[in-house]
Amino acid sequence: MASVALYEVSPRDGLQNEAAVLPTAVKAELIGRLVAAGVQDIEVTSFVRPRWIPQLSDAVELVRMLPKAEGVRYWGLIPNQVGLERAVEGGIRHVATFLSASETHNKKNVNRTVRESLASVEEVIAVARDEQMAIRGYISTVFGCPYEGDVPVENTLRIVDRLMTAGVDVIALGDTTGMANPRQVREVLARVIAAGVPVERIAVHMHDTRGTALANALAAYEVGVRQFDGSVGGMGGCPYAPGASGNAASEDMVNTFEAMGISTGIDLDRLAAAGVYAEEQLGHELPGRYHLYWKGARSRAAAARSA
Ligand code: ZN
Repeated sequence: MASVALYEVSPRDGLQNEAAVLPTAVKAELIGRLVAAGVQDIEVTSFVRPRWIPQLSDAVELVRMLPKAEGVRYWGLIPNQVGLERAVEGGIRHVATFLSASETHNKKNVNRTVRESLASVEEVIAVARDEQMAIRGYISTVFGCPYEGDVPVENTLRIVDRLMTAGVDVIALGDTTGMANPRQVREVLARVIAAGVPVERIAVHMHDTRGTALANALAAYEVGVRQFDGSVGGMGGCPYAPGASGNAASEDMVNTFEAMGISTGIDLDRLAAAGVYAEEQLGHELPGRYHLYWKGARSRAAAARSA
C-alpha cells in the first residue's frame, strides 16, 4: 500500500506565529495528543535565544516534559551553534536547520546574508553529524519571496548542493508565503531530483495563504515526494513574512491522502480532536478546512442526539 509521512510543525511553526504564549504543560499535552493520533515526526520547538521568540522560550523545559513514545521523533529547530548546544543538552536527537533561497527574506529572518547563513548552517550540520543526530535542512522561499517575487531555482540548487554535501538527511523545500503553484512544484522538484537528491530525501512544506497548499502537496506526491509538513488546524505561519498565515493543515492532507487510499498511519478523528484542543487553548478559530468541517459535523451530531 502506498504511504506518506506527516511531519507536524504546529508546536513550532504554528505557535511561533501566535500572539498567545501557551503554558509549557499545554504544549506537552498537545504534542501528546498528536502522538496518540499516530504522528511520528513532530517539530516541537525552536532553540532560538529565548527573547527572540517568547512563545518558544521554554524549549529545554518542554523537551523534558515530552512523552516517551516508541518510534516517535521529536525535532528541534536550530538557528545556530548555541541553539544546537541547548538542543543537545535538552536531549534532542533530531534537528532542523534553516535558511532562505532569497536574500531579502533571509536578511529579515535572521539578519544575515544567504552566504553567511550557509556557513553557519554547515557548522551546525558538522557538529550534529558528530553527535550522530538526524538532520533536516529547510530552505525557505523556494517558490517565491514576499519581498523579491520570483526566486530563481538556481538559488535553491546551490543551497541544496551545499546542504547535501554537508550531510543533511532530508531537504525540506518551503513555500513560506504560499506562492507556489502545482506546475512550479513539479518543475522545481524535477530540477532538485535531477541535481542528484533522492526523492525519498525530499520533504515539502506548503502554506495555504492563497488556497493552494493541498494542490501543491499533491503535485509533489505525483513526482514521488512522500514527506509532507503540516500544522494541525492550519495553525501558524512566519512572523517575518507578511501575509504568510496558514501552514498546510495536517487534517486536510491526512483526509485527502487517506481518501485516495494512501496510508498516513494517522487516526484522522484523533488528529482533528487535537486540532480542536489547540484551538481552544489559543482562544481563536483555526482555518483548516477539514478542521472546520469536523467541528461542524460533531456539533450537528451532538444536536441530533439532544433533539
Ligand atoms: Zn510554515
